Amino acid sequence: MSAQVLSGVEIAAEIKAEVAVKVGRLTEACGAPGLTVILLGSDPASEVYVRNKVRSCVELGIRSTLLTPPGSTTEAELLGMIDGLNRDTAVDGILVQLPLPKHIDTRRVLEAVTPEKDVDGFHPVNVGRLQIGQPALAPCTPAGILEILKRRGIPIAGADCVMVGRSDIVGKPASTMLLNEGATVSVCHKGTRDLAGYTRRAEILVVAVGVPGLITAEMVRPGAVLIDVGINRLDTVEQVKRFFPGDVARVAAFEKRGYVLMGDFDSRAYQVSSAYTPVPGGVGALTIAMLMQNTVKAAAARRGMAL
Ligand code: NAD
Repeated sequence: MSAQVLSGVEIAAEIKAEVAVKVGRLTEACGAPGLTVILLGSDPASEVYVRNKVRSCVELGIRSTLLTPPGSTTEAELLGMIDGLNRDTAVDGILVQLPLPKHIDTRRVLEAVTPEKDVDGFHPVNVGRLQIGQPALAPCTPAGILEILKRRGIPIAGADCVMVGRSDIVGKPASTMLLNEGATVSVCHKGTRDLAGYTRRAEILVVAVGVPGLITAEMVRPGAVLIDVGINRLDTVEQVKRFFPGDVARVAAFEKRGYVLMGDFDSRAYQVSSAYTPVPGGVGALTIAMLMQNTVKAAAARRGMAL
């Protein structure tokens, strides 16, 4: 039997449709929810991400404000700006686009956003609430992973889950969320001895590392569910041929665009699985939908509304 493709694009559309209904209810009751995005300086990749976030807000009826202070803005000025947004009752969500310029202490900035408006879920209060299973604004990528599993009926409680990668934005919160759902979770990382010994046990294998093809077919338990978080750019035709042997369409895509994206799994590993998230079009496709969901959640909580 061939493996099921878990399409993040389809799930994002489902979530956005639900969010739009909730936005409608909020708007009717007490005005549209509002998200303010701060983009400091001019990083081309960040500009694209921010544009997509603002576009999704418009699509769903969320008021969005984009603030674009210059790259020379001081930390004190940025903190002052955040303080103003924390106090502004018309603002439900605040997102500071990362990375910030080197002269700014990112941690300090993220901690300045009031936890109630922290739609990225990076504030220590939200991290702590998530850890103890309290209602929290959860970070978007791990929240998206959980949505994929739940909406596609993949049992989490009691499952043997292996998380490869322990970053603060993906690995740690994703493993916490899986644990909160009753999975037995092992967390692996760069220092793990015998990585394959862990991954081969996993019924649900989540990988967020950033090394193309790190997880090969031999490292996957047959029938496992694979969640591929990694996004890697292949910039040479040799790399494309190595990871996708005999894949003429992939080579043609490379020749057209000059690069091809792939995840942390070797494509042959997907074939051993029962279901997997593709790259692109998997976990990454959900991030903005989850941000929209968090904005609505923050707005409803601040206004004391159950949606
Ligand atoms: P990170 O660099 O902060 O963390 C990488 C983790 O991988 C570390 O914990 C490290 O210990 C581990 N690691 C590195 N080499 C390893 C190895 N050989 N074996 C086992 N573990 C190893 O990365 P991150 O921010 O968590 O991102 C990871 C990947 O996920 C990147 O490719 C990134 O682009 C992607 N990402 C995707 C989304 C999305 O929406 N799909 C969101 C965030 C990150």
